[in-house]
Amino acid sequence: MSGSSDIVPEGFDLQEALYARSSTPHEEMRRCPYCESVCLTPNRSQIGRTPGADKWYCTNCGEATSDPLPPEAECGDE
Ligand SMILES: [Zn+2]
Repeated sequence: MSGSSDIVPEGFDLQEALYARSSTPHEEMRRCPYCESVCLTPNRSQIGRTPGADKWYCTNCGEATSDPLPPEAECGDE
C-alpha cells in the first residue's frame, strides 16, 4: 500500500467531513458495517441530491458503504 489518500474519491472534502463529524450527535451517527465504528462520514457531494442513497466513508477502516448500520452505541463503548 502506498498511502491512504488513494481511497479518497475525487470531490470528497475532508475538512467538511471532519467538521460534520464533530458536530453530529452520536445518536444520529451511523455505524460502519465492516468495523462497527461510528467513524462514518457522509459524502457531502451527494447529500441533497439523492436522499436515502447517501454514500458513507469510514475514517476508521477506510471502507465505503451506502448501507451503514443504524446507530446504537458510541465508538469504543463496551
Ligand atoms: Zn469501518
